[in-house]
Amino acid sequence: MRVSVTGCGYLGAVHAAAMAALGHDVVGVDIDREKVEALVGGVAPFYEPGLPELLRLGIESGRLRFSTDLTEVAGSTVHFVCVGTPQQESSNAADLTHLNAAFQALAGLVAEGDVVVGKSTVPVGTAAQLADDLSRRAPGTTVVWNPEFLREGLAVQDSLHPDRLVYGVPDGPAGEAATEVLDELYAPMLAVETPRMVMDYATAELVKVAANSFLATKISFINAMAELCEVAGGDVTQLADAIGMDERIGRKFLNAGLGFGGGCLPKDIRAFMARAEELHAQPAVSFLKEIDSINMRRRDRMVDLTVEALGGRPLAGARVAILGAAFKPESDDVRDSPALDVAEKLDARWAEVVVTDPRALENARRKAPHLKYAHSAEEAVNGADVVLLLTEWTAYRDLDPQTFGETMRHRRIIDGRNALDPKQWRAAGWAYRALGRP
Ligand code: NAD
Repeated sequence: MRVSVTGCGYLGAVHAAAMAALGHDVVGVDIDREKVEALVGGVAPFYEPGLPELLRLGIESGRLRFSTDLTEVAGSTVHFVCVGTPQQESSNAADLTHLNAAFQALAGLVAEGDVVVGKSTVPVGTAAQLADDLSRRAPGTTVVWNPEFLREGLAVQDSLHPDRLVYGVPDGPAGEAATEVLDELYAPMLAVETPRMVMDYATAELVKVAANSFLATKISFINAMAELCEVAGGDVTQLADAIGMDERIGRKFLNAGLGFGGGCLPKDIRAFMARAEELHAQPAVSFLKEIDSINMRRRDRMVDLTVEALGGRPLAGARVAILGAAFKPESDDVRDSPALDVAEKLDARWAEVVVTDPRALENARRKAPHLKYAHSAEEAVNGADVVLLLTEWTAYRDLDPQTFGETMRHRRIIDGRNALDPKQWRAAGWAYRALGRP
């Protein structure tokens, strides 16, 4: 099938390459010239394991190309829309400027019988509104909302082997025809019995934000327990292991630490609250306000722990090394990164902060140019009074407490992700602190 993908960021670039891998003829378009230039050359414009290989495969097969010329989408029959829906600067609500612009552009380029498939995360009600507009400007086209659940760091695997496919379609023959088109497109996934659920627009939109709200709630729940462990002298990692053994609860997403960040969870729960307020259903999701607050409090607690670790000496002039700038390991994404936020908070209190990260240094430098950066963990901790582990990259989990940090002024570590074995680090002579455990 001939497929277009509008918006080639973390979601769209991977989706375009995945569609080519399924055998479709794909054109990806984006307004970001630098990004498209990289993609045209077969270079991933961001760090995502497996993406360079998938891009190369698609480009060499002749089935995958990229362009800044939005009109190149004409001629495709399925048009994915993967543009960003960030938080508005002045409120919690989603900023739909990019999405509206993409649909505006598509309206003049699509043909009768084409299916326009929204993958961006949107406030409930958006798909119906866009479908209404498009049906007037481009009669005979159908809008489907097909939310995406990929995880950065595992995006290739998740795009090629999703847990489930969700189609939000209009009622009637148009919805049935569009379902058949998507079934044909995703045939290799359906052949291996990937569950596929067809529903109305509103439910499909809500599935995505409900899933993210649930995940955020699970993380903030365990972090709330961490707060209690801190005052009562408990160990949240043991608590998580013990409650996680109940299969109704499950151990996944119960890792206490610095909390969630990135380009999705924080803005999605905020946009959900804003949309619920517009629908006069604010009480239904008012608990998300607390989920957000618990999450943000962990960042402040990290700053307090740093002060404690320094033995009460003022932060001003103290040298603090920070391991991690990405919002999670296996990604270079620094959007709402808890690690970078803590670095900035410490910097604002005049600590001498040095940040390192295996992949996200360039993005971090662009976002927070006033901070100091180092190319390796060893370089970052040189002369440091304390080191903070804030993104749990494997390289940091595997640090050897015997040999690491020999050039530090004081061997003190704060494990913001409960990623290290306290016994080992203490036995090697480190002052070890962590969130939610003694
Ligand atoms: P991103 O910022 O990395 O990518 C968005 C891209 O859209 C950018 O490259 C931008 O230049 C491009 N763009 C903006 N306006 C455009 C236009 N009019 N025409 C063509 N291109 C345009 O964002 P992302 O992380 O890929 O997220 C995209 C959407 O997918 C969001 O709604 C997000 O919530 C959702 N989502 C993201 C993930 C994820 O892990 N990143 C997972 C699931 C869902």
